[in-house]
Amino acid sequence: MGPGPINADPRVLRAMSAQLVGQYDPAMTAYMTETMGLYRQVFKTQNEQTLLIDGTSRAGIEAAMVSMIEPGDRVLVPVFGRFGHLLREIAERCGAEVHVIEAEWGTVFTPEQIEAAIIQTQPKILAVVHGDTSTTMAQPLDELGAICRAHDVIFYTDVTASLAGNTFEADAWGLDAVTAGLQKCLAGPSGSAPATFSAKAVDLVNSRKSIEAGIRSEGDEVTATPIRSNYFDLAMIFDYWGVKRLNHHTEATTMLYGSRECARLLVEEGIDEAVERHRMHGGAMLEGLRGLGLTIFGDESHKMNNVTAVFIPDGVSGDAVRGELLDDFGIEIGTSFGPLHGKVWRIGTMGYNARKDTVLTTLSALEQVLRRAGANVVGGSGVRAAYDFYASESGGPVAAATPEVAPALAESLAL
Ligand SMILES: *Cc1c(COP(=O)(O)O)cnc(C)c1O
Repeated sequence: MGPGPINADPRVLRAMSAQLVGQYDPAMTAYMTETMGLYRQVFKTQNEQTLLIDGTSRAGIEAAMVSMIEPGDRVLVPVFGRFGHLLREIAERCGAEVHVIEAEWGTVFTPEQIEAAIIQTQPKILAVVHGDTSTTMAQPLDELGAICRAHDVIFYTDVTASLAGNTFEADAWGLDAVTAGLQKCLAGPSGSAPATFSAKAVDLVNSRKSIEAGIRSEGDEVTATPIRSNYFDLAMIFDYWGVKRLNHHTEATTMLYGSRECARLLVEEGIDEAVERHRMHGGAMLEGLRGLGLTIFGDESHKMNNVTAVFIPDGVSGDAVRGELLDDFGIEIGTSFGPLHGKVWRIGTMGYNARKDTVLTTLSALEQVLRRAGANVVGGSGVRAAYDFYASESGGPVAAATPEVAPALAESLAL
């Protein structure tokens, strides 16, 4: 129940135990094409170039950046948490002239602040994290596409933490490049980075195309200033996933099976329904934590559905509580980075773990561990608050069961 990675859906694990096939086996190329279509639905895009980058989420980030940034290009990075710093760092390594604006951790930017920075710095690319697990905040992106178009800026975002757990619409919001990972709300392992690129981003990348010797045909593109990474050269990766099937790396077959299954699960559930599930169980977790007397960190109106940060109570050792939850209950919650280190725990409700039973079990276990650590907690208060939240949310079976179950459970938990 940390901020990711989380338990994988058993269907994903099963898919990943299937036998390998050759990279030009019709089953393999059909899986690749099918996976492109599935991720178009997950990202809500019509982009032809919707594919997987092999590697963890930052492989997707590096592929997007190294393929779009030429040394000397100006890149604007609004930073509101750890992963904004990562975008800045990667852009710098690509040789960009990087401009940063910073928001205090626990807050986000207004569109006006970002537009003002665009006007001031005239970047070629705006690179911004959507949801930053380090602070739990989600930067609103819906107005930034129009701003980027008005100023002729390429719009890139990292949605690793937010995709499928929070509303996201690549096309409607005017994104040019989007990269993700599986280990958060997509219910898979880390190691594959789904990504999508608009026609404008594809044109930019292809203008830098340089096909490697050995597979090059007469008349193929070669340039003196190729993309500075072979592995993450999107122009060649597009040709590998596209009709040309021009050989590049050997697609990570097992990760393809896993990524495909993650998307199939989401498309079967419905993307909006998956977001709603994260909103529901994330909301119950938040109310449950508040019920335990804990204080929520950050601007709640911009918090992601799938992760909640709470202040560690005075006099309680954050690491000791995490250790006991793990040793005695088999439940992992997250620590924090940078300015929040030692101050907050981060508790996730994402992917396969965005469920009622995981929320209630975590809250009851946390209550016991908090009491053992000397915190003043009212017996059953966390679980009761979560039940009340579920009841207020729906008239369904959850609501019907609540009045009887919550006090009884609360009583049984009291020391
Ligand atoms: C978790 C997370 C990542 C993780 O990157 P990996 O390379 O998969 O470790 C990247 N970006 C964001 C915003 C995240 O929350």
